[in-house]
Amino acid sequence: CSPQFMTVVSTKKYNIARGLPIVHHQGYICEIPADHRFPMSKFTKVLDCLLKDQVITEKQVFTPEAASKDLVCCVHTEEYVNKFFSGKTTTEEQRRTGFQWSEGIVSRCRLETGGTVLATQIALERGLACSTAGGTHHAFPNYGSGFCLLNDLAVAAKLCMDSSVPKKKILIVDLDVHQGDGTAFIFGNEPNVFTFSVHCGKNFPFRKQQSDLDVSISEGVEDGEYMDIVQTYISWLLDSFRPDVVLYDAGVDPHKEDELGKLKLTDDGLFQRDHYVIDTVVSKGIPIATVIGGGYTRDIDKLASRHTIVHRAAAKVWQRRSL
Ligand SMILES: [Zn+2]
Repeated sequence: CSPQFMTVVSTKKYNIARGLPIVHHQGYICEIPADHRFPMSKFTKVLDCLLKDQVITEKQVFTPEAASKDLVCCVHTEEYVNKFFSGKTTTEEQRRTGFQWSEGIVSRCRLETGGTVLATQIALERGLACSTAGGTHHAFPNYGSGFCLLNDLAVAAKLCMDSSVPKKKILIVDLDVHQGDGTAFIFGNEPNVFTFSVHCGKNFPFRKQQSDLDVSISEGVEDGEYMDIVQTYISWLLDSFRPDVVLYDAGVDPHKEDELGKLKLTDDGLFQRDHYVIDTVVSKGIPIATVIGGGYTRDIDKLASRHTIVHRAAAKVWQRRSL
């Protein structure tokens, strides 16, 4: 994969001082059946919530481009990408992803991947940037799984890694409650990408892959114990692996009200977690891009608000450190 496939970013464009950069596209959502378990409408509600609560203004919002076929083929096989883009995946392959194929699904996945790529590029220039989607960590090179069709984190990491000589080192911090199995598999033999996953062991995916560091935790863990684990590893990883950039999957599915999570974190626990991760990385002068990850609650407004915790934590870090 070559840097020529990077979305063209003007260096000056993102240097305008206007607060924490947020990456969002209205096309992060698409039509799915009304009774579908996936909370599709949350992505636009996340932005609405941030604007309504004046965490950000519209001037802080950047619009990504759809990831091209060449770009996603950095990580995915050409055969899979051709099948997925053209609607030729089998019924069984679609069943595994949780979505029936549609042009809308392709478009939204390409934009979501483009969003994580753009957030990473802006983070490299400004120190910190957040998407309002992303974290599709169950997608493998040749198939999608668990609501994940294209692995946005892996595409952003691969592109970033290959965009300089010597290669950049990327740390992927995956605190979604489910293991980042696709990402772990993709970078299994890649020394420049370190995959760190903290997840509930007794949860999907039941066949785990091997991350560079997996912390499998028990069902029912609460805020204090969870934070101890995060604090134990983050500083140590930053000092020992010394990444050039961090990609952070801030899934809210460890929340006690999450339908798929099995852990017992509170909103405050999630805020403390996100603030700790972002502040610690930024304090060491390392750029960090965040994605929202998983979150499954029928009350979409509540869920969308919960997903803004990472943006609120990032805004606080941004303000205090005057980035
Ligand atoms: Zn998850």
